[in-house]
Formats: sequence, C-alpha cells, structure tokens
Amino acid sequence: MIFFNWAIFSPLVFLETCLEVMADKLKPDVMADGSERLFSFGVIADIQYADIEDGYNYQKSRRRYYRHSLLHLQAAIEDWNKESTMPCCVLQLGDIIDGYNAQYKVSEESLELVMNTFKMLKVPVHHTWGNHEFYNFTRDFLTNSKLNTKFLEDQIVHHPKTSPSENYYAYHFVPFPKFRFVLLDAYDLSVLGIDQSSPKYEQCMKMLREHNPNKELNSPQGLSEPQYVQFNGGFSQEQLNWLNEVLTFSDTNQEKVVIVSHLPIYPEASDSVCLAWNYTDALAVIWSHKCVVCFLAGHTHDGGYSEDPFGVHHVNLEGVIETAPDSQAFGTVHVYPDKMMLKGRGRVPDRIMNYKKEQASHF
Ligand SMILES: [Zn+2]
Repeated sequence: MIFFNWAIFSPLVFLETCLEVMADKLKPDVMADGSERLFSFGVIADIQYADIEDGYNYQKSRRRYYRHSLLHLQAAIEDWNKESTMPCCVLQLGDIIDGYNAQYKVSEESLELVMNTFKMLKVPVHHTWGNHEFYNFTRDFLTNSKLNTKFLEDQIVHHPKTSPSENYYAYHFVPFPKFRFVLLDAYDLSVLGIDQSSPKYEQCMKMLREHNPNKELNSPQGLSEPQYVQFNGGFSQEQLNWLNEVLTFSDTNQEKVVIVSHLPIYPEASDSVCLAWNYTDALAVIWSHKCVVCFLAGHTHDGGYSEDPFGVHHVNLEGVIETAPDSQAFGTVHVYPDKMMLKGRGRVPDRIMNYKKEQASHF
C-alpha cells in the first residue's frame, strides 16, 4: 500500500509548483533549448538622408532612396518601440545624412530632421561616424554635436588606460553585466573633415598617396590594396593601443565584447574596396584576445557576413539608403548566454551567431 506523504506535497508546495509552471509558460524569452535571453539591441546603418530625388550609387547599379530613408528610420523606431522586450539601445552605424546635403548647404537642417526622428525612440542611440559625416561636417563640429554620444560611455575607474584619448572618437559601454561594447573611430586616420594645415592631415595624405597613385583618390583602380581610397579611413596606433587595453581588461574580467565601427575589417565579409585602410592591424589586436564575439559595421550597403577563424562574427549591415520603399533594413540582436541572434527586417537576413565554446557563459 502506498501512502501519500502530505508532509512533502503540502498545498504550499503545490501552489509554488503551479506558479513556476505558469511563469515558465509566460516567459517569451526562453529558447526551446532552455537558454534565456539576456538583453537585446537594435542596429541600423547608412540612412544617408537627403531631401532630394532618388539617385544611383557610383557604379549606377543600385538606386538610392534619399527621401524615403527617413520614413525607413521612422518605421524602424516604431518597431523597436513596440518590441515585447525593449532593446537596451540602438547602434547607428554611421552615414546618417548624405554628402549631397553639403552641396546644397543644408547639412545642419537635415541632421536636425533625422535627430528629431530619433527622439521618438524610447532607448539611447549610440552614433558612429562615417565618411558622409565628414562630407558634411568637420571633426570639431561633430565633437560638439548630438552625434557625439561619448557621454553614454562606461569608465573602468581603476584602469585609466582603458579611457580613450580626445584624439579620436571612441568609447566603450556595458549594456548588460559581462557584455562590453566598443565603438571605434574608423576615420581616426583620414583626409576627411580634418584641418588641411594640420600635421595629422599631412601624415594621412602621405599614407593614402603611398598606397594610391591615382589622380582621383576615390578610385581603387589598379590598387593591390583597394581599400586605400579617400572615402575610407583607418585606426591610429594610439587608438589600437587603447583598444588593446580595453580587450585585455575584458579578457581578465571574462566579458564578451561587441565592436562597432562604420568600416568593416574582415575581407571575407566585405568588398575589399570598403575595408578600413589598416584593417589587418585592427584584426591583429582583436585576434590576440579571446573576448571579442562580434564586429558590426555599415558602409557597404550590400551587407555581408563571415565568421573568422577566431570565432568573431563579422556583420556588415545592409544600408537603409539603398532599400526600396516596400522593404526595410534594420535589425534587433537578441543576446543569449551562448549566442547572439540577429532578427533582421526586410533585406537584413536573420543570423545565428554562436560563441566559441570557451566564450559561452554560464548564467
Ligand atoms: Zn560610408
């Protein structure tokens, strides 16, 4: 005969069990394999807004929807604001307004319009700077503008070497414990937006001309390193040393790191003409650490993806500017203890990005 032990199965235990089952069923953030979503963030690239008729890219192969890009941004913001779990932040990957605004002398008005649209977003935006920022504005202007979101940085108090210098626009922040995001300045070395009488301009122009003998410095024709064109830029040794310090701290602290840059750095994920000038130097720093899980970039408009041999997922986001009105181009990245999942909208595809085994964390 079996006696039911009420001492073990008390009404209180029964009630607790029921509540646990109900809570599990109501939890939308649990994957089928039981892993729990930690946080999410939004991504959008190359809005390139201008109040002008549609046009085409340099090769005349892709249409550019200059006015409609603002409506694409509005729709993306409405979507993020409605998500069941709000993204913690949005990463704007650069080229927020198009260089045409400078020709028509409406750069500030256009920037104001796009920034007013961003005000509808209920979460913070981290702004990256691309070539079109420098077609419209000087570095000094950008530093004092709303596109400078360095005030959102986190500081590692006891490690002063992880504080970026004022010579470039880069910072790091922690949207969730043990996840550090590093925003890089891919135009730290550049001939764009910089005082042409400065020694740094001279140094950058020398570097560009050494690799690009073309009269038209925006042309990659005949180059063995086609990324050395005027519309790209690179990372100074000073910035790379700083990145190395941050990644050293993250390794020690067992963090996972996401890097954000306008320019991509991995050839398998990008057209070689779109890479940062000294992308190999950036890869060398990243590959000497185990903490980096993802590198997010814009600039290519076509998008691209590749996982490198060290398990870093390189994502180049499809650009808003070359997205037809009946489509979309933005995404939300959902972060789990063992992977990131990009939920793309429109022409941004979904991607599952597993961490290398030793990077998977146990929460
Ligand atoms: Zn660009």
